[in-house]
Amino acid sequence: MSVFSRLDVAGHEQVTFCHDRTLGLHAIIAIHSTTLGPAIGGTRFRRYPSDDDALEDVLRLSRAMTYKSAVAGLRLGGGKAVVLGDPSTDKSDAVLRAYAEFVDRLGGRYLTAEDVGTTQADMDLIREVTPWVAGVSEAQGGSGDPSPATAYGLLHAMRAAALHLWGDPALEGRHVAIAGTGKVGSHLARHLLEAGARLTVADVDGDAVERVIALDPARVDVALPATVHATACDIYSPCALGSALNDATIPELRTAAVVGAANNQLADPAGAAQLVQAGVLYAPDYVVNAGGVINLAEELAGYDRRRAWQRLEGIFDTTTAVFRRADAERITTADAADRMAEERLALGAATSQPPS
Ligand code: NAD
Repeated sequence: MSVFSRLDVAGHEQVTFCHDRTLGLHAIIAIHSTTLGPAIGGTRFRRYPSDDDALEDVLRLSRAMTYKSAVAGLRLGGGKAVVLGDPSTDKSDAVLRAYAEFVDRLGGRYLTAEDVGTTQADMDLIREVTPWVAGVSEAQGGSGDPSPATAYGLLHAMRAAALHLWGDPALEGRHVAIAGTGKVGSHLARHLLEAGARLTVADVDGDAVERVIALDPARVDVALPATVHATACDIYSPCALGSALNDATIPELRTAAVVGAANNQLADPAGAAQLVQAGVLYAPDYVVNAGGVINLAEELAGYDRRRAWQRLEGIFDTTTAVFRRADAERITTADAADRMAEERLALGAATSQPPS
């Protein structure tokens, strides 16, 4: 498929290829939609098998950001950037500054943030070149690491799932299996233990697992990363990589619900219907992991942590609305979330004003 046909399919507004021959910088900035506001999305620094794979990734991720911002009720659009290279060897201050110049030239149509392969220190450096960056450190007036916000939002999505399934949002006594106890997973584990839940955790990094066990050894079990999805539990929470829900894992699930941080959990969109058939309530990833972007939106409005944390609790209502819509229209929860996002986008396009 030609490049422009690919942009047509998902409806991207603008894709910018950034090239600095002297520094060897190759980056792509994709603006999917600015209908509801400036396109926000992180900068992923990653080595890709090919330029085409990088383009595919940035197109897919920027579209997902549009849907995430829309369903979260933010006055923000969707964008994403990829810098092609190995962050451990190819990332330097000069490369980041050159990349930041490209972001700056977009004049605020695209706002960048941290993502896989970039750090908060990188965002602070980018801020020296352009104002169009969020998620800078608290010392710079920013909101800091978004992971605690994402975890707090997930907790409230889990409460919504509990209410929907068991008529009570309390998580006390519930058993949650977390795959990936990194930045988000570890904060989530702490919240869940505080809420009285019991955990099974898995991570390829043994130290990450140990840190969670240390929180409350009596209430944390360990599983293998390859089989944690098959844990008999109330809620399974994929907090590591994408495609956790696929043809191999879905039939092995022994959970009532899936509520996790990872982006693109469904390896194939058909997985949403397979989950319904398996009797598993799927809380769509971009609905429940929106805490980070909600926190960034709060930073852009002038950060007030208490107000931001209150807003994150709204993920409970959004997730509940998705479940109810899916039931009412007899569609999957993934389709319900897409419809809700698309309606808000249509309203924004029709009125040329972001809906409140
Ligand atoms: P992270 O890198 O800090 O944590 C991921 C953890 O998963 C690591 O500890 C890693 O060792 C572990 N892991 C990797 N492969 C694994 C496997 N096969 N099985 C089990 N564990 C494995 O990342 P994070 O910031 O915690 O983000 C987790 C996920 O949530 C990512 O997919 C990310 O894109 C998504 N997400 C994060 C945020 C955020 O605010 N950080 C926001 C939205 C979405």
